[in-house]
Amino acid sequence: TTPNVSDFVKHRTLIIGSTGFIGRFVAEASLHSGHPTYLLVRPGSVVGSSKSTTTIGYLQERGAIVITGSIDDQDSMEKVLKEHKIEVVVSVVGGARILDQLILLEAIKAVGTVKRFLPSEFGHDIDRADPVEPGLTMYNEKRKVRRATEAAGIPYTYICCNSIAGWPYHDNIHPADVLPPLDRFHIYGDGTVKAYFVTGSDIGKFTMKTIGDVRTVNKSVHFRPQCNLLNINQLASLWEKSIGRTLPRLTVTEDDLLSAAKEMIIPQSIVASFTYDIFIKGCQVNYDIENPNDIEVCSLYPDTPFQTVEECFKDFATRVVVVNVPKVAEKSKSNDFIVVPNAKPEAL
Ligand code: NDP
Repeated sequence: TTPNVSDFVKHRTLIIGSTGFIGRFVAEASLHSGHPTYLLVRPGSVVGSSKSTTTIGYLQERGAIVITGSIDDQDSMEKVLKEHKIEVVVSVVGGARILDQLILLEAIKAVGTVKRFLPSEFGHDIDRADPVEPGLTMYNEKRKVRRATEAAGIPYTYICCNSIAGWPYHDNIHPADVLPPLDRFHIYGDGTVKAYFVTGSDIGKFTMKTIGDVRTVNKSVHFRPQCNLLNINQLASLWEKSIGRTLPRLTVTEDDLLSAAKEMIIPQSIVASFTYDIFIKGCQVNYDIENPNDIEVCSLYPDTPFQTVEECFKDFATRVVVVNVPKVAEKSKSNDFIVVPNAKPEAL
């Protein structure tokens, strides 16, 4: 197999959005791979929510260098890129900030020394998928960033990592942050449409493998690990196996998802539109990777295994705790030790 040079050569990497859901996995992987890792952190984040402060502190302890700034300030971005001789920029900004990357692009263009740009993608191939609104607006913004990157001639890699592993809630509950359901499953449609699930740490790990890999220059890298190609009924069964009990399955119809999307409650309706696209329309599986600018990640790194959903669920299951003891636990003695506190997923 072809050795990946980026496993050996280290790149001065700037990560934008390291306090976010996906960004923290990318930042951790960058540090783990030994790349000199710079985190662009907005001034408010450092003193902001305790979650952001904790994440930044954790990454700093592992060697990350924090730079204060914001991507919507071109002059300061140029200064940051020059001063720290940044070679790779990975943007993991959230859905509401996608177009701010156009300002970042101007800074990258002006400086002229960035060897690779990974814009905030981390989902579907946005040139192929065609979700209903309001998801479509986000894709149109991501498309604008792609076209601007290509027009600027900046070497890029688009990460199409599909779904983050966890239970795919349709109302903006982030799958990596909460347990799968403990009371009942919502099954989308007939539950037979498959999707690819990739753990957060694998999203980070494989993303960082691509940054210095010549084979991924100006390519869309698709994450399609066959071991994690599952439909939602299979996902429910895996979780049932992990917790040792079965749960009722309620159908959320195609129309239910479309109605949730039409409500235009942001960001919940955006997630409903993506859920419809994935589990009703099959947007992750209804095309082949055949264009010259598409590449599948397993073909690039065949010797690096993906963490399976089963392993991920087993890990989640270790975090299921007994609550409301002794009253409810007493009642459930005959069953087992898992007690469902309420209808909401438990925050980890
Ligand atoms: P979040 O909203 O959780 O995090 C966004 C990050 O960007 C935060 O760290 C935020 O910092 C930072 N940020 C925002 N604005 C600026 C700015 N102007 N300058 C510098 N930093 C800024 O994002 P997500 O992780 O949810 O989304 C990231 C990407 O991943 C998106 O493209 C999204 O579509 C995709 N995604 C994919 C999923 C999947 O299952 N495949 C699931 C979820 C998202 P601060 O702490 O200051 O707010």
